[in-house]
Amino acid sequence: MSIKVKKKLEKKLEKEMAEKIGLFSQMSDHCLTCSKPFDKKDRQMVLTWYVVVHEQEEEVNLYCPPCWAQANKFLEQGDR
Ligand SMILES: [Zn+2]
Repeated sequence: MSIKVKKKLEKKLEKEMAEKIGLFSQMSDHCLTCSKPFDKKDRQMVLTWYVVVHEQEEEVNLYCPPCWAQANKFLEQGDR
């Protein structure tokens, strides 16, 4: 019984992963701002880069850490 439940959970996770990967496939392979190349297979990059999903536009924007920091700085300044 417990094995069955676990299997079900795994299936659910698989589906979620597939959806995430689906978005990933729509994602560009470089930083939107500086065009620095992004390697989807590089775990460190996947963990540190910023992904902004615009669901309505079905758009996935990608920013490298320095550009993200820059963008946030810009936003903070714009607030003032
Ligand atoms: Zn960048």
